[in-house]
Amino acid sequence: MSSYHALSEAEAVEYARGIPNLFTPGSELTSREIGDGNLNLVFHITEPSTGKSVILKQALPYAKVVGESWPLTLDRARIESEALMIQESLCPDLVPHVFVYDKELALTGMEDLSDHIIMRRGLMEGNRYPLFAGHIGRFLAHTMFFTSDLGMNQQEKKLRVKQFINPELCKITEELIFDDPYRDADTNDIPPAIRDAVEALWNDNELKLEVAILRTGFLTKAQALLHGDLHTGSIFIKPDSTKVIDPEFAYYGPIGFDIGAVFANLLLNFAAQEGWSKDAASREDYRSYLLGTIREVWETFEREFRSLWNEHGTDRMFQTPGYQDWYMQQVLRDTFGYTGSKTVRRVHGLAQVADINKLEDAAAKERAQRIALQIGTGLIKYHRQANSIDELLDIAVKAV
Ligand code: ADP
Ligand code: MG
Ligand code: MG
Ligand code: MG
Repeated sequence: MSSYHALSEAEAVEYARGIPNLFTPGSELTSREIGDGNLNLVFHITEPSTGKSVILKQALPYAKVVGESWPLTLDRARIESEALMIQESLCPDLVPHVFVYDKELALTGMEDLSDHIIMRRGLMEGNRYPLFAGHIGRFLAHTMFFTSDLGMNQQEKKLRVKQFINPELCKITEELIFDDPYRDADTNDIPPAIRDAVEALWNDNELKLEVAILRTGFLTKAQALLHGDLHTGSIFIKPDSTKVIDPEFAYYGPIGFDIGAVFANLLLNFAAQEGWSKDAASREDYRSYLLGTIREVWETFEREFRSLWNEHGTDRMFQTPGYQDWYMQQVLRDTFGYTGSKTVRRVHGLAQVADINKLEDAAAKERAQRIALQIGTGLIKYHRQANSIDELLDIAVKAV
């Protein structure tokens, strides 16, 4: 198998058979395409006789969600596998192991995580994950610190920036997150019930100024190697384990963008609780759990990032008293802004979230959409003044 073509299930089996030291030679293997994403094929290959398995993820040369009319570079498979390997070197327990990357086929062979569930689904089922905040806080601190100018040689870092130049996937973010939701774009999918609230955004110049500033940060601020798409659909979870998958949007950008992705997706679930919780008491309780998780993620991230800096920071100028506090404050402010941006686009842009869209009760769905817009726009407008994570939680609480 040499030149690029989308694999059939039978070809995926043959490919998996060729991965060294994985399956028993000559044994029977089964394959199933399980991709639920928008961009790629995902084959689950198993060996029933031993229970061994592997995942083969293959990039398609177009966005599956739109069809062949939206071409998309196969280089994203390289970006994804190289990002996973860097993340594995920093947080080995928090990402799937990569067995193989095949450039020709734009294919990554990785550890099967089918014993976990996608976190978005877990939250929709009302599950709680007490270890999640510690895990993701550590993931964010370690992957960001050791790929930034604070934690690595600054000349090598520039080569890393080059390694992760990802223009086509960044363009998707630049348009779908930082542009289209704020105008009458064809890509939008506007729920008719909240048309008034959406149109109000298009005429809100105070809001659009802040979005333009956040967009500038996304375009220019090469702080650290981001995951780039860290929503709860990119997190596999079970009570004792968290695994981050799908970093095909990885590039060098502002640290607050990844933290904001996590927070936005917790807040979208928060916004939708009138549809998911049975009664007012359980709703209140689950919302407190979600906000407590946000607080703990931030606190873990900040504590671990500062301690890595104090222990491993080598740059003399960056040890200047006051600089670390300034740096953490700008990450916090970015986090507010990107949390807001990532919340708003999920309400009426392309690619919305099941937390809201799967609600059957139309009134609960509309409430969820309005709450999410209120939280998102509130955070965007406030972001340059933010000083503590409590203010983010306040904005959420006041929106319900
Ligand atoms: P996309 O980039 O197309 O969104 P993902 O990497 O998010 O692709 O994978 C899509 C789906 O495939 C996941 O939601 C999950 O159900 C399944 N999947 C992906 N990676 C794995 C894995 N390592 N183990 C088990 N299932 C996986
Ligand atoms: Mg995905
Ligand atoms: Mg997916
Ligand atoms: Mg993806």
